Amino acid sequence: MSAIDLHARPSQDYERKLAETRHLLVRAAAEFPPLTQANSLGAEDMVITHLVNSLELDIPVFVLETGMLHPETLDLLERLKATSRAPVKVYTPVQESVVQFVGREGKDAMYRSIELRKGCCHIRKVEPLQRALQGQRAWITGLRREQSTARAEVPLVDTSEPRAKVNPLADWTWGDVWHYIAQNQVDYHPLHDQFYHSIGCAPCTRAIAVGEDFRAGRWWWEDEKAKECGLHVKTDEGVAA
Ligand code: SF4
Repeated sequence: MSAIDLHARPSQDYERKLAETRHLLVRAAAEFPPLTQANSLGAEDMVITHLVNSLELDIPVFVLETGMLHPETLDLLERLKATSRAPVKVYTPVQESVVQFVGREGKDAMYRSIELRKGCCHIRKVEPLQRALQGQRAWITGLRREQSTARAEVPLVDTSEPRAKVNPLADWTWGDVWHYIAQNQVDYHPLHDQFYHSIGCAPCTRAIAVGEDFRAGRWWWEDEKAKECGLHVKTDEGVAA
């Protein structure tokens, strides 16, 4: 059974949400230039890139290639680069930092402590994100309120930091996301067909069981409270840490 068969169940007001999402993206492109979309190659972000392309908006897309992604993720990235109207830019970590960190702590350091896991995330995700966002007035994410308690209050547009964050799918359900994918034949990550909901780096992502929390497959060995990679954690500098 595919992820579409399993999940594509639109909410009653799906058409209204979709119209509002389109409107928000058009408005964001006009109000916040330059802005960019962060695409993790998960279902939500693929929906947003599809919307950006179908609306022909001038919003480039960026992907953080951490060096630890699944082969399926890299394949999807290649397909996205080949088909997206919006330019897709790939950011990779500073190789010297990776070599030093792995040399010092080992390649499985993330399982030993939260500090080491966050250290790895900093080198492979947070620092490249800072580069990707340099000079941008706003960025677009696929955050949804339903994804976790930490995300339950996510606004559609967050202007609480100097760089605005636009979350066009904030009020979409997982069923809405998959309904859009089915209706528009959006290319999606094949691991979604194997019960992966939230997909990140290979060592830190697993499939989830029926009834498990949406983000249970990410850093599953850690406490719920620690489960953000730093990309969406607020700091005084206005950039994730
Ligand atoms: S998700 Fe895991 S492998 Fe990826 S950067 Fe964070 S700790 Fe490292």
